[in-house]
Amino acid sequence: MSAVNETLIRDVVAEVLARLGQAPAHKSPAPAAPAAAPACGCDRPQAGGRYGVFQDANAACAAAHEGFRQLRKQGVEARAKVVEIVKTLADANATEWGRIELEETKIGRLDHKIEKLKIIKLVPGVEWLNPYARSGDHGITLEEYTPFGVVAAITPSTHSIPTLSGNIVNIVAAGNAVVFNAHPSAAKCAALAVAEYNRAIERETGITNLVTIVEQPTLDSFKAICSHEAVRLLCVTGGPAVVKAAMQTGKRAICAGPGNPPVLVDDTACMKRAAQAIIQGGAYDNNLLCIGEKEVFVLETVADELMAQMEQRGAVRLNGNQLERLTKAVFTFKEGHGGGCPEPVLNKAFIGKDAPVLAQAAGVNVPAGTQLLFAETDKDHLFVKEEQMMPFLPIVRVKSVEEGIQASYVAEHEYKHTSIIHSHDVEHMTAMARALDTTLFVKNGPCMAGLGLGGEGYLSFSIATPTGEGITNPRTFTRVRRCVMVDNLRIY
Ligand code: NAD
Repeated sequence: MSAVNETLIRDVVAEVLARLGQAPAHKSPAPAAPAAAPACGCDRPQAGGRYGVFQDANAACAAAHEGFRQLRKQGVEARAKVVEIVKTLADANATEWGRIELEETKIGRLDHKIEKLKIIKLVPGVEWLNPYARSGDHGITLEEYTPFGVVAAITPSTHSIPTLSGNIVNIVAAGNAVVFNAHPSAAKCAALAVAEYNRAIERETGITNLVTIVEQPTLDSFKAICSHEAVRLLCVTGGPAVVKAAMQTGKRAICAGPGNPPVLVDDTACMKRAAQAIIQGGAYDNNLLCIGEKEVFVLETVADELMAQMEQRGAVRLNGNQLERLTKAVFTFKEGHGGGCPEPVLNKAFIGKDAPVLAQAAGVNVPAGTQLLFAETDKDHLFVKEEQMMPFLPIVRVKSVEEGIQASYVAEHEYKHTSIIHSHDVEHMTAMARALDTTLFVKNGPCMAGLGLGGEGYLSFSIATPTGEGITNPRTFTRVRRCVMVDNLRIY
């Protein structure tokens, strides 16, 4: 029997004996006393396990396992308390943490970094774990959502603290502890948030290390975490490489993978509304969102009107020469696999940068505060095919809705992530929904409407696409267990 299982079984036996009024055979250590403030008196998270921040991946996993055992003893009330702590702190620290994350990553926009933390309150908590019950002639049956234990979560550079915070809410509401491996370029801000969350969790519940993180994440720490025996489930949020790596670990993985969301605009849509929504979604956090509008296909009969409406709302149109200059600045090529066709490589210096920075690379000055650039391209343009994550949208004219749906399907690469339509024709909506079969399908709104911002629904920053769990919520991080009592219990 593994050491992890042994400690868990010992806990259960001790608890049952205690309830029966017998002396427990083994007494698990009481919850650790709140850690003392760092000796230096500063607020910086300390290495080596202080407030959940660890140098060593194995130590972070072992500590999270201990945190899980402590949480188990305190029940659902403690989970709800942790959820409340995370939501309150994310809101209260949104301005400071947003600034710190932007300073570290240098991608995205401050206003939206702040907003992404303020809306953590929209992530669902313990209320999502209502059991399923049946009673009948043969007794009663209860299906309950129970925790896995320790969940390992891998977070992206594009929204480090928001993803981490949303993951904690979901994962702890489900009764688990969590160990994080953040993106190396967004790891300091992630560690800072983990330390703050743990400080408050310790103070309010006495539970230590419910949330842990590796201070300097690497591929090796990823491997160590994924192979640690206490880690029962993975939640990865990122691009194709990490999804592939997670699926090769042999552990169950919930994968929130890449997207390249197409937008289709037909001739029944309201052009003003479509233009407004495309700018709102495509410019959000400089288009870092995986759900963000990345390319637009528009019926040729309304293309000029759509682009005019976008210009009226402050988006700036690039001409052919400017597009060419921007394309050369943003994409380089490397040799293809096995000597195949050269493959495009994104110049990271432009990811998540402000529109005026892109405009400069295109050889044009645009007013400060410009949110979005766009240009007409063909459907095979690199900006259409690549998930570029910058506030520039390629606009492609199509002759028919069928052609637009087909082009959207190709551009989406079968990620099955997100697609958007602006239309008042239900048949067009249904045709696109069927053809692309994406996890999120938004009609007549910006992408964020799909996450409860301006549309109905709840929020998560981890949208499990290749593995199919969809917008993650507390149930995503549970096992379903059935308890059956066979008896004459029906009273009606
Ligand atoms: P990224 O893939 O570079 O990194 C994501 C995380 O994976 C980081 O923690 C990184 O260190 C780790 N990682 C990367 N390659 C790895 C490997 N081979 N082995 C182990 N770990 C590895 O992505 P990013 O630039 O930080 O984020 C943007 C990407 O994430 C985009 O593709 C975007 O669509 C996607 N994303 C998806 C969602 C979603 O909910 N589906 C949410 C946010 C971002």
